[in-house]
Amino acid sequence: MKADLTISEVRKGLKTREFSAVELMQYFLSRIEQYSALNAYVTLDTEKALAAAKEADERIAAGEDLPLLGVPLAIKDLFCTKGMKTTACSKILSEFVPEYESTVTQNLLDDGAVFIGKTNMDEFAMGSSNITSCFGACFLPYRKKSAPDVPLVPGGSSGGSATAVASDLCIAATGSDTGGSVRQPAAFSGLVGIKPTYGLCSRWGMVAFASSLDQAGPLTKCVEDAAIMLRSMAGYDPKDSTSANVEIPDYASFLGQSIKGMKIGIAKEYTDGLNNENMAMFERAKSWLVDAGCELVDISLKTTPYALPAYYIIAPAEASSNLARYDGVRYSKRAEHYDNIDELYTNSRSEGFGEEVKRRILTGTYVLSAGYYDAYYTKALKIQKMIKDDFRDNAFSKVDLILTMTSPNTAFGVEESTQMSPTDMYLNDIFTVNSNIAGLPAISVPAGLSNDGLPMGVQLIGNHFRECDIFKVAHVLEVAANFFDKRQKIIKI
Ligand code: GLN
Repeated sequence: MKADLTISEVRKGLKTREFSAVELMQYFLSRIEQYSALNAYVTLDTEKALAAAKEADERIAAGEDLPLLGVPLAIKDLFCTKGMKTTACSKILSEFVPEYESTVTQNLLDDGAVFIGKTNMDEFAMGSSNITSCFGACFLPYRKKSAPDVPLVPGGSSGGSATAVASDLCIAATGSDTGGSVRQPAAFSGLVGIKPTYGLCSRWGMVAFASSLDQAGPLTKCVEDAAIMLRSMAGYDPKDSTSANVEIPDYASFLGQSIKGMKIGIAKEYTDGLNNENMAMFERAKSWLVDAGCELVDISLKTTPYALPAYYIIAPAEASSNLARYDGVRYSKRAEHYDNIDELYTNSRSEGFGEEVKRRILTGTYVLSAGYYDAYYTKALKIQKMIKDDFRDNAFSKVDLILTMTSPNTAFGVEESTQMSPTDMYLNDIFTVNSNIAGLPAISVPAGLSNDGLPMGVQLIGNHFRECDIFKVAHVLEVAANFFDKRQKIIKI
């Protein structure tokens, strides 16, 4: 069996009986065992997975045809899955088995997908390296040419999903993106990752981090798979009051369409200070778009430097409120030892949350407290408004899409990441948070390899609900980059 099958190859193979859904599932389960040291999955239920695959085979035999029928997917452990543990990789949720299915995963099931298991992630999706998971680090299947013995992170917070897709331990995976958690791991791992417009995917049944920024998105091997996955994941849901009631087009039908005449914004705020390697990659991506007939337009988004500080006020503020419910009484694991009610709360939270989560709760509580609320939180919301206006007035009134690098760096060492200061870690999101703050859709597409042989991604940011533009142009970049061939040159473990 070919390990790096795409969704359409799987669908074809299943229809022509080249392989069955059960065979496919068995194949992935054995690979997961073989590569268990990568720590991509945190919960597996092999019996359930094989039973779902068997059911898919029966439906295929009965002539059913659905976009994901029999396709084995991995699910980030922040989507509630009925009857299957959902921990958000936090000790505090280590015993949580949901009674219900998240809307996004239900949509995928309704389209025939079969779930392999739940993937590793940063605790409560807070992080850029997957090292804050209570299940331990997760590893990129690739290595630097200059340091083939140094284990690298797959990025975060959807690190397990990225590793699972990049290591061919599933066909595609779900992720979530509050400040870059789909796109940065996609860039580190040589994958495609899209964060849709805020409201396109329902947040119902997703463990909340920062509700005004959280969005689900797929991590896939190619643009077509991302288009297929997103179409299934998206859709109006009355159970999420921020869900958008919009038509979901067949995104895959836009691939291959001409992009001649499209205007692509190049914002100097995203390129000033890029290192040489990033700059060279960015120039190459620009030239591919020019070759395809796009017009490059210089734009300036002056609010760009304020997005990261605003994010690190708004996101912790919302997190401190969302995470208040985990107190050992209403929700979550209760501490074993306590003498009174205060200790019950304190011990449950102190033992249940990891360090980064505590840092965010403290920051969030501080910026929301009387006396500091206006100085920090209200100010951050004002900046958010300015950023939104800036995109509207200085970008999307002139261009269709904005091209940027996805991340200022490539994958770093697991050890190195444990020594990074929190603020150095936060800088990973410098190019990705802006679109969350403004609710805009953005994709990361693998564009090439660094001098040290690691994947690099470029990002396209679109206007609200213009995912079709994003997919169209992303596909052109994908074809020009020819990353499928380059993938063979990466040093794998
Ligand atoms: N790295 C960012 C953070 O730690 C983004 C996380 C995310 O998108 N979930 O907040």
